[in-house]
Amino acid sequence: MTNETPTESKDFIREIVDEHNRTGRFGGRVQTRFPPEPNGYLHIGHAKSILLNYGLAQQYGGKFNFRFDDTNPVKEEQEYVDSIQADVRWLGADWEDRLFYASDYFGQLYAWAVQLIKEGKAYVDDLSQDEIRAYRGTLTDPGKESPFRNRSVEENLNLFERMKNGEFPDGARVLRAKIDMASPIINLRDPVMYRILHAEHHRTGNQWCIYPMYDWAHGQSDSIEGITHSICTLEFENHRPLYDWYLDALGVHHPQQIEFAKLNLTYIVLSKRRLIQLVKDGYVSGWDDPRMPTIAAFRRRGVTPEAIQSFVSAVGVAKANSTIDLALFEYHIRQNLNAHALRRMAVLNPLKVVITNYPEGQTDMLDAINNPEDESAGSRQVPFSRELYIEQDDFMEDPPKKYFRLSPGVEVRLRYGYFITCTDVVKDADGKVVEIHCTYDPTTRGGQAPDGRKVKGTIHWVSAAHAVDAEVRLYDRLYTKEDPMDMPEGQTFLDAINPDALVVLNDCKLEPSLAEATTQDRFQFERVGYFCLDYDSQPGKLVFNRTITLKDAWAKMAGK
Ligand code: ATP
Ligand code: MG
Repeated sequence: MTNETPTESKDFIREIVDEHNRTGRFGGRVQTRFPPEPNGYLHIGHAKSILLNYGLAQQYGGKFNFRFDDTNPVKEEQEYVDSIQADVRWLGADWEDRLFYASDYFGQLYAWAVQLIKEGKAYVDDLSQDEIRAYRGTLTDPGKESPFRNRSVEENLNLFERMKNGEFPDGARVLRAKIDMASPIINLRDPVMYRILHAEHHRTGNQWCIYPMYDWAHGQSDSIEGITHSICTLEFENHRPLYDWYLDALGVHHPQQIEFAKLNLTYIVLSKRRLIQLVKDGYVSGWDDPRMPTIAAFRRRGVTPEAIQSFVSAVGVAKANSTIDLALFEYHIRQNLNAHALRRMAVLNPLKVVITNYPEGQTDMLDAINNPEDESAGSRQVPFSRELYIEQDDFMEDPPKKYFRLSPGVEVRLRYGYFITCTDVVKDADGKVVEIHCTYDPTTRGGQAPDGRKVKGTIHWVSAAHAVDAEVRLYDRLYTKEDPMDMPEGQTFLDAINPDALVVLNDCKLEPSLAEATTQDRFQFERVGYFCLDYDSQPGKLVFNRTITLKDAWAKMAGK
């Protein structure tokens, strides 16, 4: 685990941009893009790419484009197109009016392919996919030329047009660039540009039955949009020579491809294939199940875009792969929520308390601060009455030493309220404590004793008569292993799933102001954690999600 470059020093991408600006390569222009394939929801790794590209455009007074790289009709869906846009917007990246689709360029890409054929730089190949692979050679052996490589321009034009017209079945032929089968760069060994695929596309319908390969579509799409810096992840480094070759062959605007290391996090698996598996096989309730590492899930869980922004900028960009400790992300989530979340009182595992010397039917409104970190958040009134709930954990009949919460004969402070002393314990037939009786000291209103006596513990509570009922979902890390992809023989990442990543509590009691919560609000339930309203909530049945605990419980477990 590393912490990578601190944000203050200029990262290598900004150095490249500065150099281009010095030499005038793009006339001082900076235009970046985020090019997702709509084949799944965006995850935290994509957030890094989005914020990097958008941040660069902002910093250099440039433009940020949003482009769907929708060249593979089989895996792409409108649901993903919609969710991706919502997520990018939520993260705060503004593409203004520059939302594009690679599929909008299918006509231009086709025309350019024809141009390359005419120049003898592309040919139609009848080899099967397996044969093409076998002919490609290896890192140590050169490839072998296809017997169809030297077709005439006329024949190539004719066959390519007929491919487009749907005359051939899927896989019967491909269009390949004629580069060099002996190149030490395997991607330059006559890469496939087009394949035949009789599949309906989410935007172009059945208009096309040939589809461009990623490499043929990507650089040209960048070029059409006037992108200057085409930033991608390291696995595309060995595609760069091809990116450059196509643009040079066409003689069109030529952006600079720059590769950076993907974001990886401990206790998280980002591979889209694995995320799809979790969703399709029902390990989670959907793409936005708050246990998922998707943007939609973090949003639903109560993580703020600002927390993601500050995390991403703390991580910085690097040229070498590394894995970031999830605790760093969690730290940024807590920092942000601590500054902005409204404090509320909520009892997750209620135990009834009767204040025996408090008059029946009386209510007392107590002043409670909304956020000690932010004076402008003001305060609210919390009702106090004869019957309260406290956490079961906050009472012990036979406490060990150093237990400063409630136990028989002990006095504690109720947060924003009074001092109370436990006088009696009521048990059921099995000996379980079901209710406790206390007395309160009316002179301690607001939590101070006029005689200056101190109490060691302060506990939270809610008034029973005023409490609103809620279901509370406690979320935790989805995996118990730092690297769920590194499992013992015979096991997979699925075996690392944390069975306690979701615990549902059905009988929670919340202070009444929480009845008005919206999904936009962020709360700290005092002493319990950070929470937000879930969209499963209905009038009369509130559902809250735990965004994160107050402290890092995992660090303790790992002995950190
Ligand atoms: P797959 O998981 O199938 O490889 P992908 O995550 O690359 O897909 P894309 O939709 O192609 O999905 O990604 C869009 C952009 O996000 C690309 O520019 C890609 O490089 C970038 N990206 C994807 N994963 C990460 C990551 N973990 N860290 C940083 N950038 C990422
Ligand atoms: Mg990709």
